Amino acid sequence: MPIHHHPTSTTPTLYLSAQDVVHIVRRKGLRACFMGIAERIHRGFLRWAHFDKSSRLACHSMRGAIELMPIADAQTYAFKYVNGHPGNSQWGLPTVMAFGVLADVDTGLPRLLSEFTLGTALRTAAMSALAAKVLARPGCTRMALIGNGAQGEFQALAFMHLLDIDEVRLFDTDRHASEKLMRNLHDSGLKLQMCHSVAEAAQGADIITTATADKRQAVIISADMVQPGMHINAIGGDCPGKTELHPEVLRRASVFVEYEPQTRVEGEIQQLPEHFEVTELWQVFSGQKPGRTANSQVTVFDSVGFALEDHATLCFLHDTALELDLGRPMDWMQNLSNPKDLFSALQQSTPAVVGPHL
Ligand code: NAD
Repeated sequence: MPIHHHPTSTTPTLYLSAQDVVHIVRRKGLRACFMGIAERIHRGFLRWAHFDKSSRLACHSMRGAIELMPIADAQTYAFKYVNGHPGNSQWGLPTVMAFGVLADVDTGLPRLLSEFTLGTALRTAAMSALAAKVLARPGCTRMALIGNGAQGEFQALAFMHLLDIDEVRLFDTDRHASEKLMRNLHDSGLKLQMCHSVAEAAQGADIITTATADKRQAVIISADMVQPGMHINAIGGDCPGKTELHPEVLRRASVFVEYEPQTRVEGEIQQLPEHFEVTELWQVFSGQKPGRTANSQVTVFDSVGFALEDHATLCFLHDTALELDLGRPMDWMQNLSNPKDLFSALQQSTPAVVGPHL
């Protein structure tokens, strides 16, 4: 049978290491990355019906979860491997670690293998800011940030760059985490204030972001801390048995989610009955349902992280790496002149490696 080359089949898979992704962010600038990723996520949500969607597949253990997050449109398949292990810092490891893959739907050929721990922090913050654009009151300037670990700086900066947040009030049960964030962002232009409690940080805030890591049904935000008009960006409750908001906070608010079937199992709303009404954000972005409707309304983005956001971010990293000539080709495919003759790969090897076994 004659072999025809598929238009993309001769391009090698690109590998982006941890340093490559750092270089992308340094060369583009964080603001441009947040904007580029947010714009692609937004475009993805507007094409909601074009995606083959499913909840992520999670493997739970006592200490955390390991998850696979697949999604595809007609052209591009993506998946992310990601974990969430809140106790990991005791072993010198991050709570969240990830890598992601993009592949051609037509052939199944992988296009990209990329580090995605940094990618996850960028996309989570871009998604939070994108949701806040339609859910928070216009003119918000002050945010409380509860949980100042790995995601903290990214959340603060995305809200500065994509909204008008200029003041962030910090609280973490680990004072060193807040001090680290203060050091990292001392020249960011944000006014930063360390607080002694969640209630102190939340007092007078327009937006509360919760980014804590604890594998239990925690009550980080209780109803008495929530003032009319606040927007709550809850990113840390993202797994069965792992929540941050008291259920009363949700009952008094309008709750917005990424992909309802996944959030029912993993999000803050796992604490509420199935009939509790929520709105999927794609409906707000497309104008089918309203976001915030009144200044006094309390809105909650019950964020768990959805595969569409990773798809958009991996596409952004891939395109930007090609534009900046970063990354390197991955030598993982067997070089076959006849695709049905996989055995010939062994015959091409040096005799010393193959030995007498053939
Ligand atoms: P991290 O471990 O680096 O930081 C978490 C911080 O929360 C720590 O500094 C810890 O001291 C603090 N903390 C724990 N309990 C607290 C409490 N009761 N009050 C105040 N602070 C408390 O984790 P990270 O990488 O920053 O992630 C934060 C959370 O966000 C995790 O739960 C993670 O699973 C989640 N996450 C969600 C998404 C999403 O898309 N929704 C994406 C990435 C991470």
